[in-house]
Amino acid sequence: MQTTLVIIKPSGVQRGLAGEIISRFEKKGLIIAGAKMMQLDEAILREHYAHLVDRPFFPSLLRSMMSSPVIVMAVRGVDAVGVVRAMTGVTNSRNAAPGTIRGDFGMSGQENIVHASDSPENAAIEVARFFKEGEVFDYTPCTITSIYSPDELNA
Ligand code: UDP
Ligand code: MG
Repeated sequence: MQTTLVIIKPSGVQRGLAGEIISRFEKKGLIIAGAKMMQLDEAILREHYAHLVDRPFFPSLLRSMMSSPVIVMAVRGVDAVGVVRAMTGVTNSRNAAPGTIRGDFGMSGQENIVHASDSPENAAIEVARFFKEGEVFDYTPCTITSIYSPDELNA
């Protein structure tokens, strides 16, 4: 199984969408392996968005991501990185498909409700960036055999 990082951004927290977003992942059959509220600072955001620090919108992105606490989640499942990205939708919410989180709840490229890791390599780095040892739990929900076939679980 993969574990991927989701951040419910200030746009999602402020608009009261946290419950709805968590519920979508739960209903899909993904496992919430870790969850906590955090106030992000410039240092962690410069690391997390290192690929964007030279872009003109970076100061605005920083302000946006520090404008309220966020909720960080470690979300687990078979192929969870790709599944969660697909549920998130493309970056600009106005272009995101209906049925995705950004497509259903957003109108902005920046205020786009959630972050989701974009590759298994980055997922591992990002989960370790936002969660300390012992904050991500390894447990098996009792519903697991209704979510996956034995073959899928053993792959
Ligand atoms: N972003 C922005 N303007 C842009 C591109 C990105 O404000 O033109 C913000 C937006 O909030 C996005 C984040 O920067 O979610 C990270 O950008 P990335 O390209 O990694 O998109 P994502 O992986 O979040 O879809
Ligand atoms: Mg990204």
